[in-house]
Amino acid sequence: MKLIIASNNKGKIREYKQILEPLGFEVMSQSEAGIELEAEETGTTFAENSAIKARAIFGMTSCAVLADDSGLAVDALGGEPGVYSARYGGLETSEERSQLVLKKLSGVPDSDRTAHFICNIHLILADGREVTAEGRCSGRIGREPRGSNGFGYDPIFMYGSRSFAEISADEKNRLSHRAAALDKLREKLKELDLIYDNT
Ligand code: IMP
Repeated sequence: MKLIIASNNKGKIREYKQILEPLGFEVMSQSEAGIELEAEETGTTFAENSAIKARAIFGMTSCAVLADDSGLAVDALGGEPGVYSARYGGLETSEERSQLVLKKLSGVPDSDRTAHFICNIHLILADGREVTAEGRCSGRIGREPRGSNGFGYDPIFMYGSRSFAEISADEKNRLSHRAAALDKLREKLKELDLIYDNT
């Protein structure tokens, strides 16, 4: 089944390809599908934003479309950066946004630096049916950026003793919020008899 991912974020597309292609999906990024559109994320929840993005692209194609909205929620910051993760503080780069999180947490002890990544997936099948799933991954915010893998807030997100940017892509793909959301999505697709998967 052809599947357009409603994003041009290279890190995200790479992770979706790695996870979905073994399940038999022919995964394309939005730009690979020739679609130039950046839907405005006007929602106040991850679920609203993923639905907005998926529906905008689906209106332009007859293929299945998968959109996600994801981000980092830091408990000591009342859930910030949350839905504003990609534009936190109006800052340009993910390094600057990570530094802002670290700055806001200066003086906060390790025990209170809990955080989680959230990923909400909104899939619209070619026949118009919509399937949604949400996944989380819990960790802590470190004291400084560590590692060079991954993207976004990975260098400051500690999963046990390593940051998400210090673990391999394979390992991240097994335990990330995106993997958790995709596991749930896979279960729902199985219930709909859309995939047969014996992994
Ligand atoms: P979205 O593209 O609107 O879902 O924005 C997601 C933003 O959340 C990204 O720009 C990153 O800053 C952050 N984010 C989402 N997933 C991850 C991840 O797996 N690692 C690090 N940062 C992430």
